[in-house]
Amino acid sequence: MARVYNFSAGPAMLPEPVLSRARDEMLEWQGSGMCVAEMSHRGKEFMSIAAQAESDLRKLLAIPGNYKVLFLQGGASTQFAAIPMNLLRGGTSADYLNTGSWSKKAIAEARRYGEVKVVVSTEEGRFTRAPRQDELALSADAAYVHYTPNETIEGVEFSYIPETAGKPLVADMSSTILSRPIDVSRFGLIYAGAQKNIGPAGLTIVIVRDDLLGQTLPGTPTMLDYKVQADNDSMYNTPPTYAWYLAGLVFEWLKGLGGLEEMGRINERKAALLYKTIDDSGFFKNPVEPGSRSWMNVPFTLADAALDETFLKEAKAAKLTTLKGHRSVGGMRASIYNAMPQEGVEVLVGFMQEFERRYG
Ligand code: PMP
Repeated sequence: MARVYNFSAGPAMLPEPVLSRARDEMLEWQGSGMCVAEMSHRGKEFMSIAAQAESDLRKLLAIPGNYKVLFLQGGASTQFAAIPMNLLRGGTSADYLNTGSWSKKAIAEARRYGEVKVVVSTEEGRFTRAPRQDELALSADAAYVHYTPNETIEGVEFSYIPETAGKPLVADMSSTILSRPIDVSRFGLIYAGAQKNIGPAGLTIVIVRDDLLGQTLPGTPTMLDYKVQADNDSMYNTPPTYAWYLAGLVFEWLKGLGGLEEMGRINERKAALLYKTIDDSGFFKNPVEPGSRSWMNVPFTLADAALDETFLKEAKAAKLTTLKGHRSVGGMRASIYNAMPQEGVEVLVGFMQEFERRYG
């Protein structure tokens, strides 16, 4: 078995039971005589796969009945534009929290469609903490408030859900969705690219409160109109069928594991072990304030950056891959999403301790 522990920020590891199941069903899905990738999206087999996936996701996140769940394409980046197009609803401005590289991108894109007020920015401190609630200078006339609960590149995660005085709260949950329970009713809209905690790239999930639908900006592409997608059960055109199926297998795996309470406990444990290893060492450093540290993405630096290449090379030989930090911040980053087993983190910290012993 040559599988590695893949610490990529995304596309990321998938649970092994999901891959085995997909392999078993590859040539013929449950007596249908074909692979899921070959099925008509409007046939009864695929419709049942799609419905089951949605139903399981609704159970996992306890999504209230007044929310639509959309299975879309285009990645989270397409949502950066779709959100203002759908949610400005006659308003002219929206509030955005600037907490890292991904919120910056969301802000830049939203500015093409309306006025963006940056109500707090942690850029001066190089995005090493989540802002406190009392730092958010929310505007009276914002159509919605957007934030990034987990900044994938900086490894900064909010430990609370911002209070928005009734304004719809929009969250880019690409790198934190399904990592622990969340109260969906606190949000107007949640979106996430699939390639971290949901499934393969090519699928984007949007969970949106139904009163926010149907008031798009003039000129909004049909494909980006949430109401059109909701009215067509995400099948206005051909949806990403195989990615949807694999996401369904991931949801089933999560249910079998005990749901998001249990997933959250496992994730907290994995993250705690890695942060403790970093903090206990005199060689590795994580720059993020302890209260804002991500459970999913753990950036760290070595005491001597000249050892980075050696670290990556030896890690790879130990079957620990994709640990290089994002090009914008350098150093290392271990992404430890749902599918990264506890054992993978244990092997990583063992490797780190040994590396420090030899080079520190
Ligand atoms: N937002 C966050 C928080 C992300 O981590 C990413 C991808 N790394 C994106 C947005 C962009 O996602 P996509 O590639 O699906 O457009």
